Formats: sequence, structure tokens, C-alpha cells
Amino acid sequence: MLMSRLASGLVPYTPGEQPKGGKVIKLNTNENPYPPSPRAAAAIASFDTSRLRLYPDPTADALRAALADAEGVREENVFVGNGSDEVLSLAFAAFFDDASAPVLFPDVTYSFYKVFCALYRINFEEVRTDGGFAVRVNDYLCRETSGIVLANPNAPTGLSLPSGAFRALCAAYPDKVIIADEAYVDFSPLPSLAVLTAEYSNLLVVKTFSKSRSLAGGRCGYAIGDASLIRTLRTVKNCFNSYTVNALTAAAAREAVLDAEYFADCVGKIKATREKTAAALRGIGFRMTDSGANFLFAEYPGMSGEELQSELRARGIIVRRFDSPRIKDFLRITIGTEEDMDAFVRACAEITGQ
Ligand code: PMP
Repeated sequence: MLMSRLASGLVPYTPGEQPKGGKVIKLNTNENPYPPSPRAAAAIASFDTSRLRLYPDPTADALRAALADAEGVREENVFVGNGSDEVLSLAFAAFFDDASAPVLFPDVTYSFYKVFCALYRINFEEVRTDGGFAVRVNDYLCRETSGIVLANPNAPTGLSLPSGAFRALCAAYPDKVIIADEAYVDFSPLPSLAVLTAEYSNLLVVKTFSKSRSLAGGRCGYAIGDASLIRTLRTVKNCFNSYTVNALTAAAAREAVLDAEYFADCVGKIKATREKTAAALRGIGFRMTDSGANFLFAEYPGMSGEELQSELRARGIIVRRFDSPRIKDFLRITIGTEEDMDAFVRACAEITGQ
């Protein structure tokens, strides 16, 4: 076969569906229902396209300066990449290897982590979450491990660990990297752990512009960490592709960071819609986790997730479901606009006869 042994053994991550045309309510990939900041839009509209002749700044310094300011760190503590998936991928390659001790992450979490492990031949172990899918930090302590990855809030559950849990892990494994994937942190009642990176040189916090900043299509993510971790990420990146963040995206992302007011307004609306939707769904008998993300993770007792998903689809509403044993009956429902969610709740009431 015309493929390497590595390629022949890979099972890739399956991205959520992006429907082509047709009118649907799209609640399946945790995108933001609101447009990016008008400042980001203006940066693209006024972009001098003759600059596209040139390669972009390989370290996106203007964007990193804005991020450093917003996160309360120095520029040397910021790494940017083509979406946080890329940043995570580079981090797995940079900090983990095939040592006998496994990298640890929860059994119910972002399914890309094990794909990265397969790609880089990293030994990993999925640590079982409790009956309500909560991560038990004690299960990660006193272990032989070569690193830990925790999405916080976790996906697809939306559940968060307090900062004390990360402090305990960072202190327990000072010579291992602990990755906090904060793709959804802006929707959480708990603050980002980015400030802790000054205290713990082994903590890498990864964030994205795809959710709270409405720039999923721009592809931009970043990591905050000790300068030595950032240098290592840059080394690995430069063995792969020097120019991962394109010039248009860097300009738009910088403006999005600078527009704190629009950001707060957008995030506030989504959090309010989440709470309203959760209450309405509970009212018709759904059960769900206490999500601090821009999605809900819910099940309807007595109906399979598959049936619920297909009934919703028949009504033009797309949600995400993961076909793995513990969570196959749960739907992950991205929070859309108020109107989207009203339509969603009406459809759920109709399907369940409530
Ligand atoms: N981490 C988590 C937990 C996610 O759910 C996602 C979105 N699929 C990502 C990272 C990647 O987001 P992006 O590559 O768009 O920044």
C-alpha cells in the first residue's frame, strides 16, 4: 500500500458536520452564533492585499503583544498557532514521548487527544471520570505519568475543576508538563489559569479564538506558559511550518483581542442563553451536566441519543453526539442565538411530547 506504517495505523479525529447550503439550525460544533468583533471585520476589510505577496510574521508579534497584554503575561510567554488544535498537536509533540509512563487524560474528554497520541506514538491512559463525568483529581496524583492533559471546562461535559486541582498537579509533577485546554474558559464562572503560569513553569494553558471570539474560520489559537515551554513549542513548529498564522487572521485576531467590550457583551449573551435553555430543558425532563461552556451536555431519560438526534435533524436542527458507550445517549448542544435555542427547546418539547 502506498502509505507509511504510521499512516496505515491512524484513526483520524472526525470533525463535526459543516452542512453545505440548506437552512438548518447548526448547534453541532460549538461555534459562536454572533459575528466577530466589528473591529476584526474592519481589519480584514481594510487589509492591504498587496501584503499577501509576503510571508506573514512567523511569530505574529503584533498579535502576541495584544494577547500578552490581555492575559497579563509577557510576549515571551505567548505562542500562537493555526487554531488550538494545532497548538495542542505541537504541544503533544513537544512535551510528551513514548516513555513507558502514560500521559493521562479523562475517559470522557476531547477526542483529539488520543489521535495526537497515535500520531506521535505517545503512550496514554484514559482515567475514568465519576458517574456524573466529573474528573477526580486524586486519580491523577501519586501516579507514574509523563504528563497530564485536562480540558477545563471539559468537553463534551462542560464541567470544570477549580484552580486548586491544577496547583496540586503542577506541584506533584514539577518535571512534567500539565496542559490545561481552555477552549471554553471564557464561558465559565471560573477564571482562566493563565495567571498561574508565572508560578508554575510546567503549566501550559491553551486557548482559542474559535469560540468566544467568533473566529473559528480564521483558525487561531494560542498557548500561555513559561518562556522555555514557548521556545520549545516554537522549535517544534519550525520543524513543521514556519508560517502557521496567516496575515489576515493575525490582523483580525489582534483587533478581536483589543475589543474587550464586544467580547464581554457576546460572552454575556451566550451565558444568559445557556442558563435559559438549561432551565427550559430541565423543565421538560432533560438531565444535564452543569456546563460552564458554550454548550449543554444533555440526555432525555427513556429516549436514545440516536433517536433524539435524528428527530432533531428531521426538524432542521443539527447537534453533536459521540458514539462511545458511556455518552452515546447524550447530545452536545451548542448555544446559539436566543431564537435558535427557543426553536430547539420547542422541537425537544414536541419530540418528547412534553
Ligand atoms: N479543545 C477543545 C476542548 C475543543 O472542543 C476544541 C474545538 N473542537 C478545540 C480545542 C479546538 O479548537 P480550534 O482548533 O478551533 O481552536
